[in-house]
Amino acid sequence: MKKEQLFSIIEEKKASLIALVRDIWAHPELSLQEFHAAEVYTAFLRSEGFTVETNVGGIRTAFTGTFGSGKPVIGLLGEFDALDGLSQKGGCAEEAPIIPGGCGHGCGHHLLGAGALAAAVAIKAYLAERGEGTVIFFGCPGEEGGAAKAFLARDGVFAKLDAALTWHPEDRNEVVSGSCMASLQAQYAFSGVAAHAANCPEQGRSALDAVSLMNVGAQFLREHIPPHDMVHYSIWDAGGKSPNVVQSHASVLYMVRSDNVKNAKQVLARVDDIAKGAALMTGTTVRRHFIDGTANTVPNETLERLMQQQLESAPQPSYTAEELEFAAKLRETFGETEGDPIDTAIHPLHHSEAVKAGSTDVGDVSWLTPTVQVHTASFPLGTPGHSWQAVSAGATGAAEKAMLFAAKVLAATAQALYEDPQTLQAAQAEFRSRTGGGYVCPIEPDAVPCIPGDVF
Ligand SMILES: [Zn+2]
Ligand SMILES: [Zn+2]
Repeated sequence: MKKEQLFSIIEEKKASLIALVRDIWAHPELSLQEFHAAEVYTAFLRSEGFTVETNVGGIRTAFTGTFGSGKPVIGLLGEFDALDGLSQKGGCAEEAPIIPGGCGHGCGHHLLGAGALAAAVAIKAYLAERGEGTVIFFGCPGEEGGAAKAFLARDGVFAKLDAALTWHPEDRNEVVSGSCMASLQAQYAFSGVAAHAANCPEQGRSALDAVSLMNVGAQFLREHIPPHDMVHYSIWDAGGKSPNVVQSHASVLYMVRSDNVKNAKQVLARVDDIAKGAALMTGTTVRRHFIDGTANTVPNETLERLMQQQLESAPQPSYTAEELEFAAKLRETFGETEGDPIDTAIHPLHHSEAVKAGSTDVGDVSWLTPTVQVHTASFPLGTPGHSWQAVSAGATGAAEKAMLFAAKVLAATAQALYEDPQTLQAAQAEFRSRTGGGYVCPIEPDAVPCIPGDVF
């Protein structure tokens, strides 16, 4: 089958793929609660003849769709979770929540899942003709919170893959290179004794004081960790609202980041000690609950080069005057007027080993199989991530075109791997030399996926 036929299959399925994108955008669901998305996606996969497995790794909204048999086995990773507080009308150039305080697709995951699914559907047709090779679509919940891919990695779900491909909606067309940071999260819940803050303070033991002292301790820790490591925190429970009560409960969530999981674990162990110290100082007790974590990303130059060729040769979208006009209008809301409203350049490949600030659970997949990602220009140039503007732009025809473009790049890259065993072997040899089989899973052995705050 020619590459152009893969593109035609994606074009033929365009109406149902766009309907899927709009459905997911209109039903935004938070991490690990993507029940509607899981239902819609698995129905789509079944209707296309994939063998569907649900509740993968014991995660209720994780699923796979498999087609074909034998080697190679190529995985396509899809996400579909939304973000809290980002409800916003689509195609609207001013901030206008649909449901004030509701959630919205501010990271374009309604496009991400559909683009990867579209590629899997095209590859299914190719494999049906070819007769050998397997494609697996991974429905990966909880990317924004929950790090589901890392839990699935711990449980061996990606072990059978020969390579994994994915993409992310951004404001430019480029193959992703470089690495990102490993991260770990743990929540510390302090318990004390409530008392009248004025007439019997000596009977009280303040959990809120413990959180305050823990934060002071963490502040001093920052000077004594490697310069690029990071320590972030958020307070999930500050006790009650009355200052005349000694607060008997309080909890704080910590996230640490480092260049790899091993180093992140060392920083988190010191945060654990600070929590114990804070409990000792205040006469309270502390319970630590591991939340989740992600590994740094392992780049793969062989796959980056292969994907770059596909990015340069897949048919690029063209935009209507209305789409460009809307993009320009939206850009004004974040002070951008220079350059094209939508980036139409295909950026050259810049292979890099540099570590970017930020983390993703795609990193865990990249430690288990050669992995590569592409960005396509799904948002007007310069659109901030996780913003109302990203939600608004995500519901436009231009974003849907970028999804179809990404699907074509992914499908063509996958096809090239089935057809060219030498490139696949080179990608695997590079993968082995970079990882040496040394995946340190960030997820603690007894941990289960959870949302911070749900655990206490
Ligand atoms: Zn995001
Ligand atoms: Zn994202």
